[in-house]
Amino acid sequence: MQEFNLIIDGEKVSTNDYFDVINPADKSVVARCPKASVEQLNTAVAAAKAAFPAWSALTYAERRDKLMQLADAVEAKSEAFITLLTKEQGKPINGFADLGAGFEFGGTLAWIRSTASMELTPETIQDNDAAHIAIHRKALGVVGSITPWNYPLLIGIWHMIPALITGNTVVIKPSEMTPLTTLFLGEIAKDILPKGVLNVVAGAGEIGGAMSSHKDIDKIIFTGSTPTGKAIMKSAAENLKRLTLELGGNDAGIVLADADIEAIAGKIFATSFINNGQTCAALKRLYVHEAVYEQLCEAMTNIANSMKTGNGLDADTDFGPLQNEKQLEIVKALAQDAKERGANFLCGGEVVDETGYFYPITLVNNIQDGARLVDEEQFGPILPIIKFSDVEEAITSANRLSVGLGGSVWSTDIEKAQSIGSRLECGTVWINNHAMVQPDAPFGGVKDSGFGVAFGEAGLKEFTSIQTMQTSKS
Ligand code: NAD
Repeated sequence: MQEFNLIIDGEKVSTNDYFDVINPADKSVVARCPKASVEQLNTAVAAAKAAFPAWSALTYAERRDKLMQLADAVEAKSEAFITLLTKEQGKPINGFADLGAGFEFGGTLAWIRSTASMELTPETIQDNDAAHIAIHRKALGVVGSITPWNYPLLIGIWHMIPALITGNTVVIKPSEMTPLTTLFLGEIAKDILPKGVLNVVAGAGEIGGAMSSHKDIDKIIFTGSTPTGKAIMKSAAENLKRLTLELGGNDAGIVLADADIEAIAGKIFATSFINNGQTCAALKRLYVHEAVYEQLCEAMTNIANSMKTGNGLDADTDFGPLQNEKQLEIVKALAQDAKERGANFLCGGEVVDETGYFYPITLVNNIQDGARLVDEEQFGPILPIIKFSDVEEAITSANRLSVGLGGSVWSTDIEKAQSIGSRLECGTVWINNHAMVQPDAPFGGVKDSGFGVAFGEAGLKEFTSIQTMQTSKS
């Protein structure tokens, strides 16, 4: 069994306490994870604070050089990362449409390299006889990163790399469900980055809570559920910490009467069930015009019936298990509520394999707003398909929930789709697609889905404060 350690001040650090990390495909123990104490967290924060002056004084080119070396070193361990990711998270090595662990790992490398290539330069807003005025961007200090269990490696990279390239130092705490790939990354990084620049601690909510109230952490970037995001915001008030909160979603997709169902059914299926539905910006509520409702339900059911759910280490597996038992119980409860309301299950809906936390790909129609499956984030492989006759109703439905991460409109009339899309209350709207993110396009939520954005120049700016420099010329 592989051994894991905390990474603090460039050293591997063992702990008194450990907890087991469970493989959700067979409930076996993948590894023992070191559990950080609050004292160890304090040591990690102190190391990050001490490393900040020298790291932030480097040029972008110097920091970029280190991060590119990190990408190469991570790439050299591809197979080990991908297998570990499948074991701790459950996602298949390849999976349906190649969207499994290999996809997350490929994204990890792409995001390190692409984000490390970006740079914030001073912006001159006035240069005349009176004065030169420029906006400079300065690193904040120590950034605390708290990540969830759905894309543990990739989301960790989304947090760390923009923080590091802009000159901050980092203490990251991965989810206690999936800490291993992040600890592995920290182990590789400690031989490349200066001591204390990147520290990895592991533990559950109490360590996350200690981070969000820590006086020497200047910013928290958090990806996870809305209730945890609200708790973090409360305790971050202590030292007026900067925050980026990437929280839960319940994205609506609206399929108009003129949509080309044959062309889009596969895409709708893939973007609803990506990562077994455990994706923040997956399509989670599908509103379909009555003219194409039966046709789309049939096309989606045909695809669903050809899918194989199983252990992600098996080459022919399309979808793995849910990552944990709690999430499986949520999915089962939402399905039960739908059944009690008389919804129709086009496929799936029953647990057939209890070796791991498996739930089959499930499509549910004859269901309306108000059902738990529609109103609550399922974060699993079950999709409600709701019929509408008037697009105004569908827009109202899409906007009626408190969350607003993403949304989509599917149509052959692009102008009409864009006009409807602009009325959706969400941070990203896709036309004839969903759930697509890329390193240069800002991504973030509105309403209860959080605030602040990731990616692109806007994402880098989140890790800096403005210093306006006015040089008088008269
Ligand atoms: P979660 O909120 O339960 O846990 C996330 C992290 O917060 C974990 O590391 C956990 O240990 C830590 N934590 C728990 N209690 C804490 C506290 N009081 N203070 C500080 N940290 C604490 O979320 P999850 O179940 O791991 O992830 C699933 C959720 O994440 C879903 O709602 C999903 O939509 C959301 N998500 C959002 C995005 C996005 O970009 N908006 C991306 C992925 C996932």
